[in-house]
Amino acid sequence: MINKSAVFDIDKIRSDFPVLSCTVYGKKLVYFDNGATTQKPKQVINAITEAYSKYYSNIHRGVHALSDISSEKYESARERIRSFINASAKEEIVFTSGTTASINLVAFSFGERYISQGDEVLISELEHHANIVPWQMMCERKDAHLRVIPVNDDGTLHLEDLDHLITEKTKIVAVSQVSNALGVIVPVKEIIEKAHEKNIPVLVDGAQGIQHGHVDVRKLDCDFYVFSGHKVYGPTGIGVLYGKREWLEEMPPCQGGGDMVERVTFEKTTYNELPFKFEAGTVNFVGAIGLATALEYIEATGMDNIVRQEADLKVYADERIKATGGIRVYGNTQNKISIISFLIDKIHPYDAGLILDKMGIAVRTGSHCAQPIMARFGIDGTIRASLCFYNTREEIDILIAGIEKVKSMML
Ligand code: PMP
Repeated sequence: MINKSAVFDIDKIRSDFPVLSCTVYGKKLVYFDNGATTQKPKQVINAITEAYSKYYSNIHRGVHALSDISSEKYESARERIRSFINASAKEEIVFTSGTTASINLVAFSFGERYISQGDEVLISELEHHANIVPWQMMCERKDAHLRVIPVNDDGTLHLEDLDHLITEKTKIVAVSQVSNALGVIVPVKEIIEKAHEKNIPVLVDGAQGIQHGHVDVRKLDCDFYVFSGHKVYGPTGIGVLYGKREWLEEMPPCQGGGDMVERVTFEKTTYNELPFKFEAGTVNFVGAIGLATALEYIEATGMDNIVRQEADLKVYADERIKATGGIRVYGNTQNKISIISFLIDKIHPYDAGLILDKMGIAVRTGSHCAQPIMARFGIDGTIRASLCFYNTREEIDILIAGIEKVKSMML
């Protein structure tokens, strides 16, 4: 498949991802569901196979050779993640099972330590349920209140409201770096600066940010940054919580068990040091090794190349979609990543998705686990095409032909 605009050897890139060459219903797969999860390069698949077939053994607990190798690979993976997001220290990188688990950890643990009756937590209207519900649960437990930054008609945040939404009662702000439902980029740096003026920490949900551009948690100066391995070309079941040491030191663990302890007696338990205090039980260390390999893959491909390729795809897809009659795009701003969320006339997104599927095109339909932002626009859901660097202009042409087919069948 030749993509004239590609900034790198797209055929070689695509050949790294085995799933991309499969067919569905006899049609070549067009995979535009990268917002939900990304495909895995063979380098990641091989790293996982190697871990299970050459040195698999539980970490941190053994004196034997295989346990040493597994432990060393796991801790090297932590170092790889640290350097990828430019955290100051490995102690600030906690492995979890994903973004959802990371946010739940912070909501529980930060809540236990710092939230009291009447306090406020500030999120935005475009959050994924994973960045709403854990805070809601914590607010219920603590008799605190959830406040919400509203969204403009183009899907951007109404930041003019920040000054009065951040009050002396606000204890933490939690916002997405990029909206999964609309693709809109959130000015998190500006929000962090405003919150820090009042000494309020900020959690950034990077589930849709980490794979689309350089992330430097020190430049960003966020207090917490969370992401999932599976959305950044790594394995499922592994994720990251970055937290500034000053917060993590103070926060209590939220799960008890092996590895997170220093000394256990029936009278009292003392906890392990960071980051192990937050890693109870056997963590998905093979997943961590796979994730580190995915980040190596990104570095070898070049994040700048990825950004350029995705920007080209976004412009092309935007042009073609907008030139197609009867389409309404949600998140209609230039400041977005290569996610296009749209509806075709009055056609239900689910019907459109089914027809596109029969043409081999994988898009996501529905509320994208972000019901409040759908309600904001008075809709139940959209069709979401989420593109990434291994996609091509030719695939966008296939999507456009698919949309025309949907229109011809349903209108
Ligand atoms: N936040 C955002 C912005 C997301 O896009 C997602 C996944 N769609 C999540 C949180 C939850 O991620 P996970 O299911 O991997 O925990």
